[in-house]
Order: sequence, then structure tokens, then C-alpha cells
Amino acid sequence: MPATQAVTDTLARPLRDLRISLTDRCNFRCTYCMPRHLFGSEHLFLPRKELLNFDEIERLARLAAGLGVTKLRLTGGEPLLRRDLEVLVARLAAIDGIDDICLTSNGSLLTAERARDLKAAGINRVTLSLDAIDDDVFKAINDVGFPASKVLTAIDNAKAAGLGPVKVNCVLQRGVNEHQILPMVDHFRHSDVVLRFIEFMDVGTSNGWRMDDVITAREIVDTIRTRHPISRLPATAPGETANRWTFDDGAGEIGIIASVSQPFCGGCTRARLSAIGELYTCLFGVHGRDIRGPMRAGASDAELSDLLAGIWHVRDDRYSEIRGEQTANRRGKDADGKVEMSYIGG
Ligand code: SAM
Ligand code: SF4
Ligand code: SF4
Repeated sequence: MPATQAVTDTLARPLRDLRISLTDRCNFRCTYCMPRHLFGSEHLFLPRKELLNFDEIERLARLAAGLGVTKLRLTGGEPLLRRDLEVLVARLAAIDGIDDICLTSNGSLLTAERARDLKAAGINRVTLSLDAIDDDVFKAINDVGFPASKVLTAIDNAKAAGLGPVKVNCVLQRGVNEHQILPMVDHFRHSDVVLRFIEFMDVGTSNGWRMDDVITAREIVDTIRTRHPISRLPATAPGETANRWTFDDGAGEIGIIASVSQPFCGGCTRARLSAIGELYTCLFGVHGRDIRGPMRAGASDAELSDLLAGIWHVRDDRYSEIRGEQTANRRGKDADGKVEMSYIGG
């Protein structure tokens, strides 16, 4: 493998993180991500042969590492649905230059044994999604009747396996779960788990996003402060997505991902690889660039590496910043062809 040839984009942002979607399938039907009316029994998921196989994923991750990527995040759909995931993780962990491998999951399949196997294979940390602590609220959001209590068990399994510090993602939507902010905060205070509230984003075209539905970081902080004093912490790393806050009484940390109200495109060093091998340079991309095609047609490592570097080199994405500038005129978003969150994994 040649020495790392770090690439930067048109805004001088290096390529540091690669988020790999392992499948477009999910066993949940979260109403804001894979609503049942669009992802029902009629929906055609990708056939297996379309998905990048482990050799292909490993190869692209290795080439990405050669361009400066140090961190991989495995996501989906639901990544734990991908058979033999541990085998892939072990192969990714052996790549020179990759020093952090994380997993984002809904936790439904994270048994104690699976958590231990993933840790042994090389996953460092997991982020588990939980949008409400109340079973009824959570069941209504995931729309498959999955109780919050089972995600709490998954969180315990992850902690016990050393997959920490465990982060918990909670996407807030007005009228759906903002009343869960304080119960979630109270549950995870003093727990070693970093709870992160996420502003509902206008990803894809399935979720009927409206600016009015976004519970902003400001509102989240104000709500928490009605019960617990919190203070802002400085960022620990450039390009950090979450604003970090600490409970003044020492009960731990909380994160707020203000992608809508305080966009952080300037520090965005992430590329996303879809399950069929398209490279997206922004979460809000309309078209990914096909990498699988040239790879399956026999492109050499050098050719593929040049392709990846070339895509990054001309990148000028800053969708959230532009959206922020235009929000005043915005009237909801539809039919603009943006890629779905369940397809590229957040
Ligand atoms: N299935 C896994 C999970 O739920 O963690 C991984 C894939 S999921 C697409 C990744 C993350 O994206 C989840 O935390 C989910 O809540 C979040 N997400 C999905 N749609 C979103 C949206 N419109 N705005 C903000 N976050 C979203
Ligand atoms: Fe599945 Fe995750 Fe999307 Fe929910 S947020 S439908 S768990 S991919
Ligand atoms: Fe990165 Fe695009 Fe999100 Fe901006 S909008 S932070 S460029 S993924």
C-alpha cells in the first residue's frame, strides 16, 4: 500500500471519515426514516448480489485509508442484519491507518454475545438509536412495536462488552417526542452513556420534513435547563458534529447535534458509501458516484484510488449551510430526489 496521499476538497476539508452502509434493509419502520406506506411489503429492497461484498468493502476502505481516512462507521439500514458482520469488521480493523471503527444500530439484535463478538472483531464504539424512553411512544415511532426496554438491554450489553463510551441518538420531532427530552435526560444522567439529541433533518424525500417540526438545539437546551443546569464544553476534535454539554452537578455529558439550526459543513470530513457502492460526499446528495461499476469492471487499485480522490477533490458540498441561508423562504421539501437516510445511513 502506498503511503497516505491525503486529499482535500475545494473548501480545504480533508477526507477523514467513511460511513459505510451495509444494507438498505431494516427491521424497524421508523416513521421519519422508512415509513411503512413507502417501505411496506411491496417495497423492493436491493438483491444480495447488488450489495458490495466483503472483499469490495475492504478494498474500498483500504483505498480510502490511503487517502487519509482514519475512521469508519458501519451503518445501514440496520447493519446488524448483515450476516457475518464480525468477519468484515475484523478485516477492516486490520487495515493500516484505520484507528477507529464504530457502529450505528437500532440495537434490536445486539445481544450480549453479539456485542462481545463485535468488540473482539474490532468495533471500538457503538451508537444506538433510541427516540423515546416511554415504550408506547417508542413503539409508535419504530412502528414495529419494539419496546424501549429492549434497547436499554442492548445498551447494557454494549457497555458490558466494552463498546464504549456508548452513545445514544435521539431524533426529536415536534408533536412526536419532544416531551421525552426530560425523561431521556433523567434516565441517562449518571450512566456513562452519552445521550445525544439530534435535530430532525430534511434527509431524503420520505419523511415529510417541515422546518416547524424541528426541535432546535436552543429549545432542547432550554428544556433541559428547566430541570438541570448544564454548561457548554469546548469541542475536543475539529469537525465534531455534536455540541457537547455537561451537567453542572457532575452527572455526565450530553450532546446536541444541531445540523439544521447550526450547520457544521465547514468541518465536514465525511464521505458515505452506499450499500451498492455509490460514494456520496454529502448526506443530502442527490446522486452518488458509482464506484462498484468500475471496480467490478476490473479497475486497478490505482485507478480506483484516483477515482475516489478525484471525487473528493472537486467536492463543494455545504448543503446545511445553504439551507440555513434559505430557510426563511423554505416551504417543505419534496420531489427533489435527495437520497434516503436508510439508504446511506446517516
Ligand atoms: N438503523 C440504524 C439506527 O437506527 O441507528 C442505523 C441507520 S439510521 C439511518 C442512523 C441514524 O440516523 C439513526 O440514529 C436515526 O435516528 C438517524 N436518522 C434517520 N433519519 C433522520 C432524520 N431525518 N433526521 C435526523 N436523524 C435521522
Ligand atoms: Fe431503521 Fe434506523 Fe431508519 Fe429506524 S432510523 S428505520 S432503525 S434505519
Ligand atoms: Fe457535511 Fe453535507 Fe451535512 Fe454539510 S450538509 S455537514 S457537507 S453532510
